[in-house]
Amino acid sequence: MGVFEGKTALVTGAARGIGRAIAEKLASEGADLALCDLDADWLSDTAAAVEALGRKAKGYTVDVRSTQGVQDAVSAIHADFGSIDILVNNAGITKDTFLVRMSEEDWDSVIDVNLKGTFNFTKATSKIMMKQRAGAIVNIASIIGLIGNAGQCNYAASKAGVIALTKSAAKELASRGIRANAVAPGFIQTKMTDALSDDVKQKMLDVIPMSRFGQAEDVANVVAFLSSDASSYMTGQVLTISGGMVM
Ligand code: NAP
Repeated sequence: MGVFEGKTALVTGAARGIGRAIAEKLASEGADLALCDLDADWLSDTAAAVEALGRKAKGYTVDVRSTQGVQDAVSAIHADFGSIDILVNNAGITKDTFLVRMSEEDWDSVIDVNLKGTFNFTKATSKIMMKQRAGAIVNIASIIGLIGNAGQCNYAASKAGVIALTKSAAKELASRGIRANAVAPGFIQTKMTDALSDDVKQKMLDVIPMSRFGQAEDVANVVAFLSSDASSYMTGQVLTISGGMVM
């Protein structure tokens, strides 16, 4: 019996990278999985991996930026699974460039996916969790939302916004039995970070006390903890997963 037996987890950006690792980790501990992403083909790979662990999985093609699309997806998930016990807001993008060169589109798209997407899913799902009088929300922020980064004004602002949203939602929802926490990963090896040059990667390694990049599973393990009753007295917290890069 896993700790999430009988529970439904909704993970956004679940087609690959950190989202897929989170889905597989929660399934390995007994959760059924509602998987949301833009890419239906890749979602079916994650669904197959979850089913191979003996759990129910279903993919939903949804753009987290669309308030109506998210509301429709959450309603469908509630009808299909009967409850939504865990929400992991993981979908995210980067559009890095220096401030003076950052276009309105670069700014808007990153804020819309990372911050508005988190708002959309948190709002739609918390209505269901309030009726259940139980739920755990885990938002994937970033250390960049804590410390900032040259070339990432849009991304840093979006992730700082996610942290502030997490804390505010935690205060609003605590009395209804709903916890909201965030994780702030450092450099995790995924497609998002594969795009960086070797020079940038070496500079990152130089400032990571543990001298290695993180794996998606390093994030998934902490998300599982924040989703579980093992963290039942924690809400509004931000746990950093960065090999000591940020302390
Ligand atoms: P990734 O490999 O690029 O995966 C992100 C997933 O989100 C993709 O499947 C992507 O789909 C999906 N997505 C993007 N825009 C979407 C939208 N509008 N609606 C629905 N889904 C959308 O990235 P990752 O590295 O796993 O990152 C996951 C999260 O961790 C992000 O929030 C990221 O900011 C955060 N994070 C990552 C790192 C790191 O070092 N990798 C560090 C700190 C925080 P498509 O592929 O179809 O676009």
